[in-house]
Amino acid sequence: MSISDPNQISEQYQSVLEKIAETAVKTGRIPDDIKLVVVTKGHEVNRIRQVIDAGAKRLGENYAEEGIGKINQLKEFSGIEWHMIGHVQSRKAEMVVQNFDIIHSLDNLKIAERYEQFAGQWNKKIPVLLECNVSGEESKFGFSAWDSNNWDKLLYEIKEILNKPHLDVCGLMTMAPYFDEAEKARPIFQRLVEFQKFLKMNIPQNPWKELSMGMSSDYSIAIEEGATMVRIGQAILGPRNQPKG
Ligand SMILES: *Cc1c(COP(=O)(O)O)cnc(C)c1O
Repeated sequence: MSISDPNQISEQYQSVLEKIAETAVKTGRIPDDIKLVVVTKGHEVNRIRQVIDAGAKRLGENYAEEGIGKINQLKEFSGIEWHMIGHVQSRKAEMVVQNFDIIHSLDNLKIAERYEQFAGQWNKKIPVLLECNVSGEESKFGFSAWDSNNWDKLLYEIKEILNKPHLDVCGLMTMAPYFDEAEKARPIFQRLVEFQKFLKMNIPQNPWKELSMGMSSDYSIAIEEGATMVRIGQAILGPRNQPKG
């Protein structure tokens, strides 16, 4: 079967959905409580059309311009939710607010201020997740949450973000480092859940409902640990092109 066979994408999409449901049931969770975000970065719009035809409703992109190009080319489909999952530079904050439906990767106070400014100007309230670095890997973006001794300090910044009227802070997001065995990602996901508990206790007026964690290699483990959103690319769409520039 060739890699661009639409049946293959549809089958892989279905089999990921089944595995999500299976894992949820096995851990006593409700399958519908876990939202699948299909990560389409590095794929051509024709391939993305195939996954939309297979039923995908939530698509994730890492790069502002690449994502917006696709959003414009796929306007014929209604009801698609576009998720920004990558680090955003300040100067791209406006186009992200204008074009995306939810931002998983809010990773510092400065970008929160930019989003607030533009969401205000565009008169919209934008759902965001706070990206947390819970592994301590230097290459990772996100609030420094790997050491619980730092959590109290993070409360100040997080409270400032919660005070912004045009941002709707729905929860947390993390990315586990690449491991040779998926099981090794478990403590990373557990730490994000611990941090979520800490926030629920210290800032109970915010619901902290969503946990965006788990990718192609480790999503079952993330679901076992409480993920409400999984971001899956390769397992559905196959290998992708490397980002340009
Ligand atoms: C690329 C990417 C994913 C998807 O990774 P796959 O291994 O293709 O499933 C998920 N989350 C983020 C933040 C990514 O950059």
